[in-house]
Amino acid sequence: MTEKLTGSSGQVRYITVPVFAPREIELPPLKLSPYSVSTFRVCRQQYKFRYIDKLGDQYATARPYYTMANHVHATLRDLLSVVPIEERTKKTTERLLRKNWQRCRVGFKNRADEKRWAEKALAELSRFVSEQDVAVHPLMLEAWVEAEITPGLILQGRIDRVDKEADGSLHIIDYKTGNVPQHTDWLQLYLYALIVSRKLPYSVHRVSFHYLSSGISQTAELNAEQLEQAAWDLLVIAGEIRREKAYRRTPGQACQRCDFTPICAGKQVACKASVEGDFELWRDCVSRDNALA
Ligand code: SF4
Repeated sequence: MTEKLTGSSGQVRYITVPVFAPREIELPPLKLSPYSVSTFRVCRQQYKFRYIDKLGDQYATARPYYTMANHVHATLRDLLSVVPIEERTKKTTERLLRKNWQRCRVGFKNRADEKRWAEKALAELSRFVSEQDVAVHPLMLEAWVEAEITPGLILQGRIDRVDKEADGSLHIIDYKTGNVPQHTDWLQLYLYALIVSRKLPYSVHRVSFHYLSSGISQTAELNAEQLEQAAWDLLVIAGEIRREKAYRRTPGQACQRCDFTPICAGKQVACKASVEGDFELWRDCVSRDNALA
């Protein structure tokens, strides 16, 4: 662009001025998962230890319920994928569980403790085979999915199961090996639905938590507005994560499963909160963690 300049003596000069197009502000890339979003919402200090400082491997603590849940999920994946429908019986399921169990046996106090958790795993799987439709052909099982929700914001995670229903819509199912919570946080499943709806040419109409110990399923119907709301909630949380500086700790029930109690200044408060919590599954682990402290 050319501009006219007039000096104090009346002399006129023309100069060329560079013009810059307005630039969009580029945000640093951010990768989130439904689990990391949940961690940030529950305790920001835990989020920092795991995702900013990357101390997860250093402080990883083997826990019996994680080992058990891992084997139950692997057994369900094998049962509904590689086993022919006519062989999907309790006996086959037990054989698969025994095989998967040999892969990893960490976190147990002793053989008796391991046996108790193995029996619990078998009971959950047996209930599943007796009460659920095991003749299904899921579209996805234990599948890793990822999608760019907005430029620079990646959402990713592993989905337990996706079924394609008769009307062509999708149903996302998340297996839980613990008890039914008093309050159900649907955001986790809505975020999975968001990824899947961005990746596949089908709509997600239903999401479910299936609690294996009780056989109870909680299902929510999903429409386009709810999916948009989930995307909006994600953007709000991503903005908070990008701006976060303090990473305050929030002692509470999450401390029971937190690997970072040894370096958390709120540890004493955390342990008190965990003892007061009513988490039958975690009780052994709490006492074991306290003994190690
Ligand atoms: S022990 Fe509790 S307060 Fe400390 S980081 Fe873990 S969850 Fe947060």
